[in-house]
Amino acid sequence: MVSTLHRVAMVSLHTSPLDQPGTGDAGGMNVYVLALSRRLAARGVEVDVFTRSTDSTLDPVVDVTDGIRVHHVSAGPYEGLTKHELPAQLCVFAREVLRAEAYHPVGYYDLVHSHYWLSGQVGALARDRWGVPLVHTMHTMAKVKNAALAEGDTPEPMARLIGEEQVVEAADMLVANTDDEARQLVDLYGADPGRVQVVHPGVDLDTFRDVGTRAARERLGLPVDGELITFVGRIQPLKAPDVMLRAVAVLLRERPELRSRLTVAVVGGPSGSGLERPDVLVRLADELGITDSVRFVPPVAQAGLVDWYAASSLVCVPSYNESFGLVAVEAQATGTPVVAAAVGGLTTAVAHERSGLLVEGHEPASYAAAFARVLLEPGLRDRLAEGARVHAAQFGWDRTAEAMIEVYAAAHEKMRADLSGLAL
Ligand code: UDP
Repeated sequence: MVSTLHRVAMVSLHTSPLDQPGTGDAGGMNVYVLALSRRLAARGVEVDVFTRSTDSTLDPVVDVTDGIRVHHVSAGPYEGLTKHELPAQLCVFAREVLRAEAYHPVGYYDLVHSHYWLSGQVGALARDRWGVPLVHTMHTMAKVKNAALAEGDTPEPMARLIGEEQVVEAADMLVANTDDEARQLVDLYGADPGRVQVVHPGVDLDTFRDVGTRAARERLGLPVDGELITFVGRIQPLKAPDVMLRAVAVLLRERPELRSRLTVAVVGGPSGSGLERPDVLVRLADELGITDSVRFVPPVAQAGLVDWYAASSLVCVPSYNESFGLVAVEAQATGTPVVAAAVGGLTTAVAHERSGLLVEGHEPASYAAAFARVLLEPGLRDRLAEGARVHAAQFGWDRTAEAMIEVYAAAHEKMRADLSGLAL
């Protein structure tokens, strides 16, 4: 660890690590920021998280636990702003972050770590003002997202593309979730390969563990000897929960004997463009004639989510794109195989034929075939379940934090080298 690393300013402008993930703008990034902060604090690195306040009742500063504080920064109206309206609040948010630091002695923060491009813009300013390195994690990238849009989804605006390019240029080090993402940063955004480091996100292996399928089903009030196919996540076209429902309809047509035994769960709340049509999946289930088999479950805290994963015969992650896909790893950590789209980070999060099945494309029939294999092929489910536990075990957050501390050290080195280059 860098001996000078005492305190990190974590910027998470558009979503707070204290929000319930699985709905609105709260998802994997929130889980990531909080889990990483906890592991850093456990290693003696204090973390101050700056996020935009979205509720007038929030305290300006919340002590989450020893070594982690969340600052609710006032920037724009509390409610009603969409992510696309936030660029207009960047200046005031940045001003408030700089003001908060001005109360402290010089050199209070050793490093800024920003998450998502909006925070990167603020991080870049803080970097220059405080003279400390900027580490940035993209979480998602507009150019990648626009290349794999779900039908009817709106492309990310040019302002975001340009904003991301600026952050890539400003950051001392960029963190990529996977090798694929590292390549995209270099190929699509022109990042210097020497400034890109792959750090896999993690999974909380204490929370997401094998709690037993039967016990989990009993706790959830589900039939213990039936089958359960589950989707978990923010409900929006990019995540393709509709593909899973269509695939279930195909499966039930081909295997009508499953109808009385199969439950399908959709866990999570509307998000992004999904907010415009919150009942779209309820209507789709009705059109497909599978309403009786489907349960819609509002977002569940992680301590309860473990039961949904463990109770499932399989968890389906059919997204058009995922930077990583925490849901896939969490499900596997409980010993549940995953059927996922062979896209982006999911090809790292899921080991094809070992911990789950990766499906090319988004044809419902292909997912139905994968479901049928996991549910019906003798021995396959048990083999994948064992592989799932093993595969997920390599993604603990402790590893993520250790690797991140190395990245922080590299960022200090880069900055020192850049400054000495300037002095020449
Ligand atoms: N999640 C949750 N409760 C829910 C649905 C989702 O806590 O009801 C969490 C889930 O455990 C995971 C995160 O939200 O940690 C989603 O992360 P992922 O990387 O799968 O998707 P993202 O939201 O980043 O697109």
